Amino acid sequence: MDSDSFVIPAPRIASLAVVGTDKRFPVRRIYCVGKNYLSHVKEMGEDERAPPVIFQKPADSIVEDGATIPYPVMTDDYHYELELVVALRSGGYNIPEIEALDHVYGYGIGLDMTRRDIQLADIKRGHPWEPGKSFDQSCPCGPIRQAEEIGHVDKGRIQLMVNGTIKQDADLELMIWRTPEIIARLSQQYRLCPGDLILTGTPSGVGPVVPGDEMVGTIEGLGTLTVRIGPPAA
Ligand code: MN
Repeated sequence: MDSDSFVIPAPRIASLAVVGTDKRFPVRRIYCVGKNYLSHVKEMGEDERAPPVIFQKPADSIVEDGATIPYPVMTDDYHYELELVVALRSGGYNIPEIEALDHVYGYGIGLDMTRRDIQLADIKRGHPWEPGKSFDQSCPCGPIRQAEEIGHVDKGRIQLMVNGTIKQDADLELMIWRTPEIIARLSQQYRLCPGDLILTGTPSGVGPVVPGDEMVGTIEGLGTLTVRIGPPAA
């Protein structure tokens, strides 16, 4: 359909750069896995044996590498969570674990930015995580690297620095649910599709950022993601 088919301007398709090409990766949905590193489960005081939590962020919450994002509304405790991002080329229902990686287009580095004060208050009241997790510009994400070129990413250092100080430092091998298991499980709950992103959870060391801070995330083999925090959203 062209733009004349819509009664108002159609929303832009969210997308990410792909290393090695000038074409872009279109983003359909963003799924996030909570509680996927024991060290983070422990620091949050959560049940170590509970299955991982799945939630979504809006596709247009994507922010690209190098951006400055405003300090969000409704929070005094705005947290970073550095995560491996898996980008799907194809999908389906009930994907067997053994076939799961065939659906992966590539990998990237993402930040699951979180209004922690809102999230914790909602957890206490038994309310959904959404207001704490799914808000504007809450998903900075670096360019995607193609699995065809770099292979599948299942180990390697994951590290976040804020203003040059190491805050998160772990290895992807410490993920409780590995990428094939996450894809298999998620596909029991939703039909996965080309363009879906999966943020695979964060290790320990989460904490707050304030206006003026610079976050630099690195994952071995995936380069870096740099994001700065600007003044509060107007
Ligand atoms: Mn997270």
